[in-house]
Amino acid sequence: MYSINPANRIQALPPYVFARLDELKTRAREQGLDLIDLGMGNPDGATPKPVVEAAINALQDATNHGYPPFEGTASFRKAITDWYFRRYSVKLDPNGEALPLLGSKEGLTHLALAYINPGDLVLAPNPAYPAHFRGPLIAGGKVHSILLKPENDWIIDLADIPDSVAERAKIFYFNYPSNPTGATAPRKFFEDIVAFAKKYEILLVHDLCYAELAFDGYQPTSLLEIPGGKDIGVEFHTMSKTYNMAGWRIGFVVGNSNIIQGLRTLKTNLDYGVFSALQLAAKTALQLPDEYLYQVQERYRQRRDFLIQGLGELGWNVRKTLATMYLWVPSPPGVGSTDFALSVLQKTGVVVTPGNAFGSGGEGYVRISLIAECDRLDEALHRFEQAGIYYQ
Ligand SMILES: *Cc1c(COP(=O)(O)O)cnc(C)c1O
Repeated sequence: MYSINPANRIQALPPYVFARLDELKTRAREQGLDLIDLGMGNPDGATPKPVVEAAINALQDATNHGYPPFEGTASFRKAITDWYFRRYSVKLDPNGEALPLLGSKEGLTHLALAYINPGDLVLAPNPAYPAHFRGPLIAGGKVHSILLKPENDWIIDLADIPDSVAERAKIFYFNYPSNPTGATAPRKFFEDIVAFAKKYEILLVHDLCYAELAFDGYQPTSLLEIPGGKDIGVEFHTMSKTYNMAGWRIGFVVGNSNIIQGLRTLKTNLDYGVFSALQLAAKTALQLPDEYLYQVQERYRQRRDFLIQGLGELGWNVRKTLATMYLWVPSPPGVGSTDFALSVLQKTGVVVTPGNAFGSGGEGYVRISLIAECDRLDEALHRFEQAGIYYQ
């Protein structure tokens, strides 16, 4: 017998904390437990009807059945740049400054493969969305984690990055509004990070997946609205969250055409892009009236307020997040993230994600997704109370 091991790049990946949780979830389900799963970043609603209808119509049209163009359909790229102008007053060229993706996770990871040589240095916050550091690790890069701190409202402190590190860094991944912390960064931070990237010649990768899931009048900032942002950066967007299209696998990247060209060249060798029918559906989503957006925002805002209020009654003091579909909640003093998440699951059947799944900097916190209606959130809070789960 001989054994064939996966490549070093796979073996070098840190273990997924989600794996143990998944096992326990499966076992709990087998025992017939009524799970309330607030663990994933998977929106619970249906894709909007006009989008589904556009997809059905597109499916009936044989011209959509072949390989799509590598660079995406012209009509979807145009819809992307129109949407960008409408939201941010930023003018982009649909030829070269916008590229459809098989979900933004695909693009975020492949961008690292397109730009990172073994040993190259990548800056990423900790905690972070896993693709921001796992992509660079798969590419053989070294990740310099920037530890985020609650006293800094989970905003990256650029002064924490030593000169010698900044000089070697090639890519800087960041994400506001943030998954998992729910933090938002002021426009001043965006100006600072653009100046930082220019000074050290670093490619900026901003993940703006929560561009539209914002509340209380807050409008998330685009890297491309910042003067000079497009010279050195790209921005990733997804259709998954706002439009409940997580299973459809479609997103896009916009920004500097030279940077996008590198990713496109890699992808030309890997895939054929998104099914044309889905690009038509996504175009319809980007063109939905703002009324749809307000309804989605209102739904998440209500859940946010409901859960913050209920957790408050159990001793948690959780600040109102201005965006995303997450609450970032401390585990009780002296209890680790994983232990807390596991005990919550065992005692109540409520699934939350341990913060350390997003890197060591998430230790001491859990992420709760607002992906259930208020009556289910209410049930979750009742179970907490009954099981004696308080912040104390
Ligand atoms: C959900 C999420 C993504 C993934 O989006 P897809 O387009 O579904 O791949 C990427 N980045 C962040 C920060 C996310 O929360």
